Amino acid sequence: MAGGEEAESGAGTRRQQIRQLLEEGFQTLESLARAFQIRVKDAEEEVRHAARSSGKKLRIEPAECPSCGFVFRGRDRLGAPSRCPRCRGEEVSEPRFTLRHESAGS
Ligand SMILES: [Zn+2]
Repeated sequence: MAGGEEAESGAGTRRQQIRQLLEEGFQTLESLARAFQIRVKDAEEEVRHAARSSGKKLRIEPAECPSCGFVFRGRDRLGAPSRCPRCRGEEVSEPRFTLRHESAGS
């Protein structure tokens, strides 16, 4: 099974839709993967691509552990951490991210 190749039926449209969703509000890899019926790994690629091609900044709201409140700061990955380093809980929330103008104020 070929890994890196893209199946190009309506991929442009999908990219636009993903980018639009990201510009409208926060998304997670899971929600994008589900909405577009793609793998989470592919969703991450799409998000990175959307950020690059739009010239906007990908703002990431870090994952958080609901059990102990641990926040996964300083993490650049978009997928959910597998478990919490503090309490070892496995119900860690997914990071959420959105596209914003670089110049948008603090
Ligand atoms: Zn925890």
